[in-house]
Amino acid sequence: MTQTHPQALADEVWEGDTAFIMGGVADIGLRAIMSTAAFDARDREALERWLQACKVPADVPRASVRQVHGATIVPARDALESQPEADGLWTDDVNVALLVRVADCAPIWLADEGSSRCALLHAGWRGLASGIVTRAVGTLVEAGTNMRRLRIGIGPHLQPCCCEVGPEVAAAFSVWPGALRSARSLRTRIRQDSVALDMTAVAVAQARAAGVIETKITAASSCTRCRADAFHSYRRNGAGGPLMAAVAVRRMEPA
Ligand SMILES: [Zn+2]
Repeated sequence: MTQTHPQALADEVWEGDTAFIMGGVADIGLRAIMSTAAFDARDREALERWLQACKVPADVPRASVRQVHGATIVPARDALESQPEADGLWTDDVNVALLVRVADCAPIWLADEGSSRCALLHAGWRGLASGIVTRAVGTLVEAGTNMRRLRIGIGPHLQPCCCEVGPEVAAAFSVWPGALRSARSLRTRIRQDSVALDMTAVAVAQARAAGVIETKITAASSCTRCRADAFHSYRRNGAGGPLMAAVAVRRMEPA
């Protein structure tokens, strides 16, 4: 099964060589920014310098989680003092910055057009298989969001050219339209029984199935593994390699 994403989904906005910005949520006041290969987000001081360069004020508390490739989403207020095990954060508060770390997994931003409510997810194949996008939409709707007014931005991640999965992983995605592609999509193939997984297609399909309007979903098309000039990649660098940070904050620094 193959599926080409409509051009309208593409969302590539760069700011210098340090930041990738999801333009599709910017006009409703969400700063949705990801760092690039310019530094390793495991370095807390480098991360803090970058956040301040991105105009995330130092007095805005940072909420983060211990990421476990699951589908648990916690309120940001529960992730300020300590970091619970989870892969998503949400808040109504304009005075908090949501933070996740990624390398090949997708940062996914959700924003309510009608309120300050927003969420940020760390979504790889395991989180998607566990339904993290479905859960996130449900969490925001339960908090009062009208899902017809929900925007979703899917940041740079491992694209089908590099997302080789075996049949045991593929089986978890067969229900989602466009999720699985022929191995011919792969730039290199290690296993003889593999196919290519399209994580964007899965995230979009989960959002649509949950009732999100397709034109309110945007996705970056850059592949983190192919773009060594721009991104860190788990599959390129291996375990323990550098990470990128993704941030969501609803408060804008005055220009
Ligand atoms: Zn690639």
